[in-house]
Amino acid sequence: MKAAVVKALGEPLVIEERPDPVPGPGQVRIRVEASGLCHTDIHAAHGDWPVRPTPPFVPGHEGVGIVEELGAGVTHLSVGQRVAVPWLGWACGRCEHCLSGWETLCEQQVNTGYGVDGAYAEKMLAHADFAQPVPDGVDPREAAPLTCAGVTTYKALKVAGIGPTDLVAISGIGGLGHLAVQYAKIAGATVAAIDISDDKLRLAADLGADILIDARKEDPATVLQRYGGAHAALALAVSEESFATALAGLRRGGRLVMVALPADGAVQVPIFSTVLGGTSVIGSIVGTRQDLAEVFQLHAAGRTRVIYETRPLSSVNECVDEVLKGTVKARVVFEM
Ligand SMILES: [Zn+2]
Ligand SMILES: [Zn+2]
Repeated sequence: MKAAVVKALGEPLVIEERPDPVPGPGQVRIRVEASGLCHTDIHAAHGDWPVRPTPPFVPGHEGVGIVEELGAGVTHLSVGQRVAVPWLGWACGRCEHCLSGWETLCEQQVNTGYGVDGAYAEKMLAHADFAQPVPDGVDPREAAPLTCAGVTTYKALKVAGIGPTDLVAISGIGGLGHLAVQYAKIAGATVAAIDISDDKLRLAADLGADILIDARKEDPATVLQRYGGAHAALALAVSEESFATALAGLRRGGRLVMVALPADGAVQVPIFSTVLGGTSVIGSIVGTRQDLAEVFQLHAAGRTRVIYETRPLSSVNECVDEVLKGTVKARVVFEM
């Protein structure tokens, strides 16, 4: 099978031929149909973050494909079934986080395409308990972006606790943001979309955003404050500055949910306005298996649209460059 491999951090990926992986107990082997490119894969390949993956490894945590072999003890999945393999590749199931519905915070978790080989390959392994069944009728190329971009923004809006009378600012309308706009609209909120690209603001409008803010031309915080400030803001752009403006755009009691991960990023939180305004800054990382099941359920019901473009895996390095330049319209999905 072919796989795109990070041989050394910061170097281009190399397409190589590898033997088919063999599922161990509790695992399944999947024939990958579609695999999304998430910004995290680029951070992984570049070794941007404090905890670095160890090369050689195969990135990719938006893998969707067909189960083709069951490891020992796997009884709830069957050969021929379509599943998705998210970032949360495994969690212990026993710690306080796992037991309280926060498996995404498990200290022992294993991350797909980071701690173990991921979905930039024709075949991959997954822990059967964390391979999410994809409902019938959902296109694998659409399921792929939902597996990280979808579940991550869906969860972030849950964490933000938004309601139908809230103003929600979505900062960054890319692979994540275009889905965040839709989930916020499904929740009934008024949505302010913030970006620095005409195409992306147009896309946000298409998807139902009520207020469009071009951060090149106006200060998003000032615009949001004209509406009384946002009840919640999702920081989805890999830009430190956008976190600060989203924070400044909150109303009293507002919540900034941090999702994007600019390497070495930091935000100054002013103590005075945080105390008097009762504002919160919250981090949110991906989502649980239940969150992903809900994301698929919404899509199967026709309530979300996934904007993506397909590419061959052989173009992985060009695609990385395009994502870094911000010239990709939404999500790149590799078709195997
Ligand atoms: Zn991701
Ligand atoms: Zn755990």
